[in-house]
Amino acid sequence: MAADGLQMTTSKLLLARFPFRHWAIWRTPHRVLVGYVLAVDALALLGTAAALVILPVGRVNSVTVLLLIACSVLYTELSLPIEKMQERYRGAPSIDLNAVWMFAGILLLHPALSAVVIFVAYFTTWVRVRPNELYFRTFSVAATVVAGLAAVAFLRLVSTESFAEMPRNTESFTIVFGAALIFLVVNSVLVTGSICLGTPHRKLRHALGQMPDHALEAATVALGILLSWALVDWPVVILLIMGIMLVLHRSVLIRQFRDQARADAKTGLLNSATWFKDAAAELDRSTRGAALLMLDLDHFKTINDRHGHLVGDKHLRGVADALKAEVRATDLVGRFGGEEFVILLPRTAQDDALAIAERIRHRVATVTIEGLDTVTVSVGVAAHPDHGTTLEEVVSAADRALLAAKTAGRNRTLLFAG
Ligand code: GH3
Ligand code: MG
Ligand code: MG
Repeated sequence: MAADGLQMTTSKLLLARFPFRHWAIWRTPHRVLVGYVLAVDALALLGTAAALVILPVGRVNSVTVLLLIACSVLYTELSLPIEKMQERYRGAPSIDLNAVWMFAGILLLHPALSAVVIFVAYFTTWVRVRPNELYFRTFSVAATVVAGLAAVAFLRLVSTESFAEMPRNTESFTIVFGAALIFLVVNSVLVTGSICLGTPHRKLRHALGQMPDHALEAATVALGILLSWALVDWPVVILLIMGIMLVLHRSVLIRQFRDQARADAKTGLLNSATWFKDAAAELDRSTRGAALLMLDLDHFKTINDRHGHLVGDKHLRGVADALKAEVRATDLVGRFGGEEFVILLPRTAQDDALAIAERIRHRVATVTIEGLDTVTVSVGVAAHPDHGTTLEEVVSAADRALLAAKTAGRNRTLLFAG
């Protein structure tokens, strides 16, 4: 104990003298995440230093370096009106199309120079758009540099020619395609790792992100290949690529707006209207039965009364994340209203639904915001078609089961009993 205390004091003293002690990275509650971020930063630095030693820089292609940097800065400026439009709809992540310039840099330049392009591209968006904390931006740079080094290592292993010298045939295409794939996979693995460590309660499939986001990332890298080709053979084509990117940027925004229109702003779950529409369609489509859970947090008012509505809101978000983490991707989780939630479990028998409800109930009871109070939940379960043939009938049955659970003392799951 005494040794522990001494260690604590020493580390506090060290931290007090540390000139960068105000940085946000030290405030993250996840120590392992900090270690991970710093390790990837170090790997990027060491990898770039090793590349400088192993691969001669040769004649610096300063026109390409300057063009790529100019393009990335110009693109950030041109896309600012789109990003500003996005800012008005809080919650949607900023769209990052920087991989176009960065992957072109990786294909055409020495890794140390492509690292400069990556750095400038990320930091221009950071200064102008500021989508996240500085240390996370630095991590994005490092993860991209490491992914780029992996792609370059592959290119050097399988081909003796540089991208500019490669014959424009199928074999070269396969090699460049392989390098793009390696870049995408390494970058995704590094980013997913950071998300997993930053939000340990999330399931891997949530940390892995959604298909449209991966498709967008792949499309930007593909555009990066076209850009490299243009830079070598026909630089003015860059103008077309810029135009394509601006249209792409706008169309992604439309997808985000559509997703937002379906979501409940506070919890990120489906909003009530969308949940009803999707759940009714699911019941119409399915012939294999479904179960419905209706949940209401117990004495939730006390959280608001004790800690304020902002903490109450955070708690609701935590519960919503817990609900999503406990069910399949195909289950429909919605916010019914206030602190009431609904979950439709397609193709689920009553017994399984009860087991899932109990699992959720135990999980919800562990949700805590900043170490404050936990809250329990009461759950009503009903089945389709046993307890109702329409969605309204099944919801009403689950609601009655929920009321019975409340009356019986709360913090329990009850099946509709007719
Ligand atoms: P019980 O359900 O166990 O009967 O008790 P309860 O305290 O949860 O009571 P009830 O369900 O009737 O009331 C819901 C409370 O939830 C009222 C309100 O203070 C709180 N609430 C509803 N919506 C929100 C919200 O969006 N944010 C916050 N912070 N609180 C909300
Ligand atoms: Mg309620
Ligand atoms: Mg309640």
